[in-house]
Amino acid sequence: MSEKTETALGVLQKQVNQPLAAALEVCARCGICTEACHYYQAEPIAAHMPSMRAEELRKVYRSEYDWLSKLFPAWTRSEKLTDEKLATLAEMAFTKCTLCARCTINCPMGVDTPLLMTSIRAMATATGNAPEILEMLADSAIEKGRDPSSYLGYFLDSIKDMEKELQELTGNPQARIPVQKKGARILYVALAGAHTILPAAAIFETVREDWTLSIYEAANYGVFLGDASRAKAIARRIADEARELGVQEIVISECGHAYYAMRWTAPNWFGDEFNFRVRSIVEVIADYVQRGRLDLDPAANPEPIAYHDSCNLGRKGGVIEEPRIIMKAVTTDFRELTPSREEAYCCGGGSGLVANPDVMDLRMLTGKPKVEQVRRSGASIVVAACENCRLQLGDLSAHYGAGFGVTAIADLVVKAMRLPGAKNTIETAMTSAQLDAVRVEK
Ligand code: SF4
Ligand code: SF4
Repeated sequence: MSEKTETALGVLQKQVNQPLAAALEVCARCGICTEACHYYQAEPIAAHMPSMRAEELRKVYRSEYDWLSKLFPAWTRSEKLTDEKLATLAEMAFTKCTLCARCTINCPMGVDTPLLMTSIRAMATATGNAPEILEMLADSAIEKGRDPSSYLGYFLDSIKDMEKELQELTGNPQARIPVQKKGARILYVALAGAHTILPAAAIFETVREDWTLSIYEAANYGVFLGDASRAKAIARRIADEARELGVQEIVISECGHAYYAMRWTAPNWFGDEFNFRVRSIVEVIADYVQRGRLDLDPAANPEPIAYHDSCNLGRKGGVIEEPRIIMKAVTTDFRELTPSREEAYCCGGGSGLVANPDVMDLRMLTGKPKVEQVRRSGASIVVAACENCRLQLGDLSAHYGAGFGVTAIADLVVKAMRLPGAKNTIETAMTSAQLDAVRVEK
């Protein structure tokens, strides 16, 4: 056995707990999950069946943990892990599954295929088989946390420039973007780039929220790697900042995986020391809307507009009604995609795929069901409360010549607020080709 396979099997052994063992043991081979997967919908081949993907890990698992398989591997179709097999598993888990969990909610046994794929990602990451770009992005976030002084000056300068834009937008020369403000009620954690800061700042300013901007980005590439220690280190920077500032609540920008990591995973990582409420900015805006704290004109957004449920925010995160509360308040022609809510199709770019330039063709193929949904809805604009989804949807619209624009919820809200400096056109999301330039901004 090579050093790599030994390491990978060690990672698997550490991961085998009750949920993973259940996912490895209980599949009834009924095939009900097959049609649920957008990969299979886009290209109906056996390799795209969720149960076939899971079976690849089960073969290895049986060869290590099942006595019958150890004696008669051919009978049980078990397979010893080799370096080649590890590379094949890694390629599958990092590119052939977006961890969207649509198969899981359609499985009568509740088999958690994303959990199986995440385990493979962990094995692959520990043995140098993960996509380099994800490793690089995760490490750079951790490095920033270790030494914020390396970029803080530049960051604060860019916020000062952004503050001028906020003042023009709101028509208020006193408008501010507070950073590191002790005792603020909300710590808002944005993504790289002004597009996730300015609209939120305009909304906070309008309702006179007591908030402060995080010096860190919300994105957590450790999650995509299946690397709990890196994911935890990235989340810890934000938790520590929240504690040092004494905020009551952490609010995450429109980003699915970042929300899921802080809302649902971080409390398990940090236990009692993580005593903050965590919400998505979408939940916060919906709350303002319901309380009548925003003066909104839906006629500002008259186009047919659809909302795409990000898997991490909707199906996995439970934020399903809040975006609809906002959409109905800021548009006049809101259209549902079919299916939507818990049953929404993944856009095809989740779980780090958008950051990986090597899988562009695959992303365009597996995003086809989403494009067809949008076409059927007749929407000319698609709103997504997740940066990964927006990038993928923008790429899909361009690739298929579908002609729909893509934007964030906060942009629609700002437009409906009829602020003095607001533009009359909706800022459409950037494409993934523009992603790298934005990443270095913050
Ligand atoms: S998690 Fe999503 S992408 Fe992965 S196998 Fe299930 S349905 Fe397909
Ligand atoms: S639906 Fe569930 S039990 Fe049936 S094949 Fe798929 S994973 Fe297995």
